[in-house]
This record gives sequence, structure tokens and C-alpha cells, in this order.
Amino acid sequence: MPAKLILGTEIREQILEEITKEVAEIKGKHGVVPGLVTILVGANPASISYVTLKIQTAHRVGFKEMMPGKPINESNPDLKSLPVDISEADLLATIDNYNKDDSVNGILVQLPLPKHIDEKKVLNAIDPDKDVDGFHPVNVGRLMIGGSEVKFAPCTPAGIQEMIVRAGVETSGAEVVVVGRSNIVGKPIANMMLQKGPGANSTVTIVHTRTKDMASHCKRADILIVAAGVPDLVKPEWIKPGACVIDVGVNRVGEKVSEKTGKKIAILKGDVNFDAAKEIAGYITPVPGGVGPMTITMLMKNTLKSLKFKLGIA
Ligand code: NAP
Repeated sequence: MPAKLILGTEIREQILEEITKEVAEIKGKHGVVPGLVTILVGANPASISYVTLKIQTAHRVGFKEMMPGKPINESNPDLKSLPVDISEADLLATIDNYNKDDSVNGILVQLPLPKHIDEKKVLNAIDPDKDVDGFHPVNVGRLMIGGSEVKFAPCTPAGIQEMIVRAGVETSGAEVVVVGRSNIVGKPIANMMLQKGPGANSTVTIVHTRTKDMASHCKRADILIVAAGVPDLVKPEWIKPGACVIDVGVNRVGEKVSEKTGKKIAILKGDVNFDAAKEIAGYITPVPGGVGPMTITMLMKNTLKSLKFKLGIA
């Protein structure tokens, strides 16, 4: 029987509805809504499309969305950016102002930054209690400790865990194999799945380019999470029958003309051979439409959480 599809597009809608409802309740009771600041420097086209989606989503759920700088185009006055030649000191001062601003619950700096700015210094300047991306070393440490220490899990791993849980896949005692050890996906999701608690309690293995016999590890996995960035890396014969396969990879393998818009769009492929894998796995995420939509969704969830921490209702 073909695998059950875990669709990020559907789960996103459920979660955004839940957030919208909660935001309205908090507004009614406490008279405040979550405030999210997005800092964009310059006008990188990929950053603009990502940030535009963030703003639209923040508006949809009822957040106050803020961007410093000047509008990039007249048709969308909400979309602003700071000058590409802004000094590092001025950018740090901008972050410091938002750190002190009580109406701001989340601060997000869109990467990449121009070369003359030290990205690490900038990200580390964000107040860890407003670091809704979850990349500040303090939040990485909190995630490692687990339990009530955790404030913000990074958004893509948080989305992966949410998808597994909402699909009803048992994680306790499950063999989880994570392909990839990056700081934004592989390491944090591995750490989250091994914590003592709901949606976790798994036995976790991480594999990477120096792993001997990667296939033998993948074949053991009840839950296989693949974040390598290599199209079709995971072969169908590596998948345990009935396993839950989460394909994080987003690989551009060509271009096609969109039937909807008539414009050229990228052809995307995951790290797993989807057509073959879906005949073996019990659950599987497609690419696109799987993990992708979850990242911004979890960013909204983290921002709401930040306000709830502040109000003492988290
Ligand atoms: P990354 O920083 O490049 O890390 C890739 C990891 O995969 C590394 O640890 C690397 O091992 C491992 N790897 C690469 N090739 C491998 C191979 N042939 N065999 C075994 N391991 C291999 O990538 P990332 O940022 O984690 O992203 C991974 C993929 O997820 C990308 O396609 C990215 O676009 C996608 N992604 C999607 C979302 C989303 O949908 N929202 C978010 C983030 C990332 P070494 O450490 O040994 O080099």
C-alpha cells in the first residue's frame, strides 16, 4: 500500500488557524498582539520573496509586523529594507533598539548579510528571549538541556517534529536516523528527538559524509529524516517497510513554465527518490509541499510563544 502523505501545506493551515485563534484570545484578555521585526539589509531577490511570505503570514495571524528602513517598492509599502552599505555598528544599534522595545517579541535578521558585516556578531546581538529563529547560542544550549529550559526550537526542526507528531507516528522508542549534521537542521532535530518527553524519547543516529555504510543505518530507521541537499541520495532499498520518511532536502534540478502563471519556476526535488520510496514507506513528505511550508509556520508559533512567556501564560 502506498505511504500516507504528510503534507506541510495542510498542517500549516491547521497551525496558522490555531495561532490566529490564540492571538485573538490574548488580544481580548491582555490587549496585546505578538510583535515581529524582520530586518532585511539590501534587496537580495531570494530574501525578498522569503521575507514577503513572512510578512503575509504574520499579517494573516494578526501579528504586528515591523521592518526598519525604506520601502523597496511602492506596491508593497510594508516591505522595507536597510541600505546595503549600512555599517555593522548601525545594524547592531538597530537590533539593540528592538531588544529594548517592549512591543517586540521576535527579531529576525534575514540572511545573507552583506560581506562587510559579521553575521555571527549580528545574530548573537539579538536578545535570546526574542530570538524566534532559535539560532542564538543560548537557545542552542537551552535546546540541548531540553524540557522546561527550551524557549525556541529552530523553525525547520520544530516543523519536522510537529509533522511527525500530527501524523500520529510513534516516536517513543523509535529508531530515528538523521542524514546530515548541519546546525540548522541535522543536529537540532537529532537533539530534539532524543529528549525525554512527548514527541521524542527516540533512539537517534546521525549519519554524514564520513559515515561508513550509510545504507545499513537508514535501513534500521523507523523514522528517517533526510537533510543532506543531495537529490535522490536515499535509495528505496534503504527504507524500512512502513517507516516514516521526512525529506527536508530542497534541490533545484531544472526549470519549467508554471501552468498557473506562465512564468519560469524551478523544478524541485528532495533527497529521497519519492516515487519509489512511497511504495515502501508508511508515511512520507513530498517535495515541494512537505517540510518547506512548516518553517515560516513555526516562526509564527515561536513569536506567539515569546509573547506568552512574557505574559507568564506559556
Ligand atoms: P548543509 O548545511 O549543507 O548540511 C548538509 C549535511 O548533509 C552535512 O552534514 C553533510 O555532511 C551531509 N551530507 C551531504 N551530502 C551527503 C552524502 N552524500 N552522504 C551523507 N551525508 C551527506 O545543509 P542544510 O542547511 O542542513 O540543508 C539540507 C537540505 O535541506 C538542503 O537541501 C536545504 O535546501 C534543505 N532545507 C530545507 C528547509 C525547508 O524546507 N524549510 C530548511 C533548511 C534546509 P558533512 O557534515 O559530513 O559535510
